[in-house]
Amino acid sequence: MESYDVAIIGAGHNGLVCAAYLLKAGYTVLLLEARSVPGGAATTEEALPEAAPGFKFNLCAIDHEFIHLGPVVEELELHHYGLEYLFCDPVVFCPHPDGKYFLAHRSVEQTCAEIARYSDRDAKKYAEFTDYWQRVTQAIAPMFNAPPKSIIDIAGNYGWTNLKDLLSVIGGVDKTLDWVRDMLTSPKEILEEWFDSEFLKAPLARLASELGAPPSQKTIAIGAMMMSLRHNPGMARPRGGTGALTQALLNLVKSKGGVVLCDQPVKQVLVDDGRAVGVRVANGKEYRVNKGVISNIDAKRLFLQLVDSADIDSADPKLRDRVERRTANNNETILKIDCALSEVPRFEAYDHKDEYLVGSVLIADSVAHVEQAHSLAEIGQIPDSNPSMYLDVPTVLDPSMAPEGKHTLWIEFFAPYQIAGAEGTGLNGTGWTDELKNKVADRVIDKLADYAPNVKKAIIARRVESPAELGARLGAYKGNYYHLDMTLDQMMFFRPLPELANYKTPIEGLFLTGAGTHPGGSISGMPGRNCARVFLKHQQPFNERLKEASNFLKSRIEWVFKES
Ligand SMILES: Cc1cc2nc3c(=O)[nH]c(=O)nc-3n(C[C@H](O)[C@H](O)[C@H](O)COP(=O)(O)OP(=O)(O)OC[C@H]3O[C@@H](n4cnc5c(N)ncnc54)[C@H](O)[C@@H]3O)c2cc1C
Repeated sequence: MESYDVAIIGAGHNGLVCAAYLLKAGYTVLLLEARSVPGGAATTEEALPEAAPGFKFNLCAIDHEFIHLGPVVEELELHHYGLEYLFCDPVVFCPHPDGKYFLAHRSVEQTCAEIARYSDRDAKKYAEFTDYWQRVTQAIAPMFNAPPKSIIDIAGNYGWTNLKDLLSVIGGVDKTLDWVRDMLTSPKEILEEWFDSEFLKAPLARLASELGAPPSQKTIAIGAMMMSLRHNPGMARPRGGTGALTQALLNLVKSKGGVVLCDQPVKQVLVDDGRAVGVRVANGKEYRVNKGVISNIDAKRLFLQLVDSADIDSADPKLRDRVERRTANNNETILKIDCALSEVPRFEAYDHKDEYLVGSVLIADSVAHVEQAHSLAEIGQIPDSNPSMYLDVPTVLDPSMAPEGKHTLWIEFFAPYQIAGAEGTGLNGTGWTDELKNKVADRVIDKLADYAPNVKKAIIARRVESPAELGARLGAYKGNYYHLDMTLDQMMFFRPLPELANYKTPIEGLFLTGAGTHPGGSISGMPGRNCARVFLKHQQPFNERLKEASNFLKSRIEWVFKES
């Protein structure tokens, strides 16, 4: 029987990041991946090999912002393993039905100049708004890069700049209360408080709602950060597609002796006397571990599908019930459209320039339009009578992803996982059929053609993936690519539940990482890194950990006296 120090369930980018840190610390690691390719929601695949050979598609993630708020790329020296980030500029283009458009550059000043063509007031407000959210980001980023219940780790991430930003956001009682209110309110309310113009509010609402909820949803005003991140640290894509990040991580993992086995869905975590001792995969093969099992899949899938109920109950009799009932996944996910194009979509009525297509293009006619896109999906209806969408033409920034002179089109359209009234029909009982997904995709393309009339003729071939197919491909519960909703009540030390929030579980040697843990979904690698740190600390004897903590406190006190 093969044995390793650690087995990781799933080779998503977080599983790979976690593996990389453990391998660097000298542990032996095996990653078991259900699909035939590693990467999870971070792959680039030649998905239309017959109809469009040579076209490479990001089947899921494309625009990377959060990873630049943490140290993963630098610490793991991923550029040595083939990763090169290309930063987008401009970062957003959103045509408005009345002929105006929002064009955001990486530079805030340039963006304000674009807004000022229509509203001086909103241009000035945009500069203040972005400054505020950038300070909020810097104030909380240290928390993203540490286990959420480890005060010492969090404190260790704060330097003067972050502290200054933190004080500027919460310095004084009224400021703090105002900030708390911002965290509790909705993107819609925040945008209405700051801006007058719909052409500006609509794209900002669309980006805020990338957290996976309507703009009117309370507690996700922090989604406003999604635009400010595009200015700083910026929005980038790996050359060659998101899969190039996965490939760099694989290169690193393999160079350190890590083993990645694909087509190996884990069916059971083996527990002996309250301790995780290995895993069993679908073909019955077992792998034993000396130190632990780490799950890149979320708590719900792990505890309700892969761990024997008696083993969980004896560790924590309430856990199964809490995981099943207290973690929330709304019904919203994505219908994904990838097209091979003979030419770029041209926004003729908007004085088309190819540079509009360097970043993301948003079709968001109003805040109400975005609201409808999300709220209908949540109640099981398909918001395709007037589709809102997020699209990219990645080949404008990176022509290597298609044959010379040709392009690809990436479209994200929010849609329900379970269609109301269609329960028990279609794929996995969701109501989704090939006919329906293609009908919806036609409507999405029709809407895009209202803005870019050449798009239909430019399509050489297309691939449409319904929410049910996306869920089946990723193995994600209800197709939730964040593993768990990203509302405030499920973030930080609440993610996925307080008792699981520090990446440990009540079963000794069983750890959790991935999008369903702090700080959540998206391409960041932070859950993978934080989990690895917790795992490594856990291996140290108690007196060493105590010594480390006291040394840390001493150095912090010295630092405070030196700086003051
Ligand atoms: C269409 C789409 C667009 C997106 N766009 C962006 C974007 O532009 N920017 C951004 O930052 N984020 C984006 N995201 C979100 C982001 O891709 C994910 O949140 C992130 O990739 C999650 O990474 P992860 O490693 O935590 O989990 P995953 O990528 O879900 O990895 C989990 C892995 O576990 C494997 N697995 C599941 N069950 C088993 C099992 N039983 N045994 C073994 N393996 C198993 C899966 O196959 C998968 O490889 C997008 C997501 C989607 C779906």
